[in-house]
Amino acid sequence: MDTKSTWKGIIREYIDFFPITEKTPIVTLLEGNTPLVCVNNLTKKLNLNLNLYLKFDGANPSGSFKDRGMTLAISKALEEGAKAVICASTGNTSASASAYAARAGIKAIVLIPEGKIATGKLVQAMVHGAFVIQVKGNFDQALNIVRELVKEYPITLVNSINPYRIEGQKSAAFEVCDQLGRVPDYHALPVGNAGNITAYWRGYKEYKEKGKIQNLPKMLGFQAAGAAPIVLGHPVEKPETVATAIRIGNPASWRTAVQARDESGGTIDIVTDEEILEAQKMIASYEGIFCEPASAASVAGVIKLYKQGYFKENSTVVCTLTGNGLKDPDIVFKIAEKPVALPAELNSVRDFVEKIL
Ligand SMILES: *Cc1c(COP(=O)(O)O)cnc(C)c1O
Repeated sequence: MDTKSTWKGIIREYIDFFPITEKTPIVTLLEGNTPLVCVNNLTKKLNLNLNLYLKFDGANPSGSFKDRGMTLAISKALEEGAKAVICASTGNTSASASAYAARAGIKAIVLIPEGKIATGKLVQAMVHGAFVIQVKGNFDQALNIVRELVKEYPITLVNSINPYRIEGQKSAAFEVCDQLGRVPDYHALPVGNAGNITAYWRGYKEYKEKGKIQNLPKMLGFQAAGAAPIVLGHPVEKPETVATAIRIGNPASWRTAVQARDESGGTIDIVTDEEILEAQKMIASYEGIFCEPASAASVAGVIKLYKQGYFKENSTVVCTLTGNGLKDPDIVFKIAEKPVALPAELNSVRDFVEKIL
C-alpha cells in the first residue's frame, strides 16, 4: 500500500470496473476523488435557475483529468513489459504521461506542437524527465506521427486511442454519482479529442448496468469556435483557440462522441474564445476555482444554452473543469486587472483600502 490515506486511487476504488489482474502493477498517484462543488454565487449573479455543480478535475495530481486514464494506461503498459511510452499532446497528456512514467520508472517521449502549449504543462514534462519533442505542426500531425512510430517499436502509445485511457477516465462519472447521491440531469464538458465525453458516457452507462444508478444524464459537449469539427461536421485543418487543450481539428474519438450525444439526447455546441475567457474569470472570481481556459468551455456552454431556454428550470447540471488554471497563467495575466503599485507607506495603502471598502 502507498499510504494510510483512505482514498486509494481510481483503480483500487473501482476495481470491478477495470481489466485488472493480480499481475497488474498498479501505478498510482492516488488520483481521483476530486471536489464536486455546488456553485450558488455564479448561478445567482447570472440568474440561472439551475443546481450547478463543478467537478474540479484540475485537483488531480498532475492538474488535469488525464491522470484518471494515465494511471490505468501506465499500469497496463508496465504489466505488458513496456520500457517506454509515447504520446502527442496539447499539454496535459504529456504532463500526466511524464508524471506516471516517472512513477513507474519507464521512459516517456512526448510530442507537442511548437509554441502552442501552455508553459506550465511544458515545464511539467521537463521536470518529470520526459524526452520532449516540439514538432513544427499541430496536434493532429503529431498524433499521426506517434501512431506510425508505435507500429515499428515496442513503445506503448498513451494517447486516448489507447483503450485504457478512456477506461480509466470513466471513473469521473462514477464519482459524480457517488458524490451527488444521484445522477445529474445534464453533464457538460469541453470536447477536444473527444475521449472524455466518450469516457463519461461509458461510465454512466456501466454504472446503470451494474444497478448503481437508475437513469442517465444528457451529455453536453462544447468545442471552441475555431476548433469545432464535430459541430461543423468536417475536420478543421488549422484549428485555432485560446483554449489550447481543445485546439484539435480531427478528434480521434469523433464517432463515440457523436454516439454519446445522440444516445443521451444531449448536444455538442460551440463557444467563442470570449465566452470561454469570461466564464473562466467568473468561475475564479465568484467561486474561487481557477481552471484553465478549455475547462471553462463547459460553463460557458451551459450559460449559452441556458440563455436559449435549453434547460428545464431547476435542472441539476454538472460541469467538468478538466484542468488547473495554474498551468496556463499567461492569458489571464494579459487580460486581468494588473496589481496596483504604491509606495511602501501606511498612508498610501490606507487611502487605497478606504476607497475599495
Ligand atoms: C485533454 C483536455 C481536454 C479535452 O479532452 P478530450 O478528451 O481530448 O476531449 C479538455 N480540457 C483539458 C484541460 C484537457 O487537458
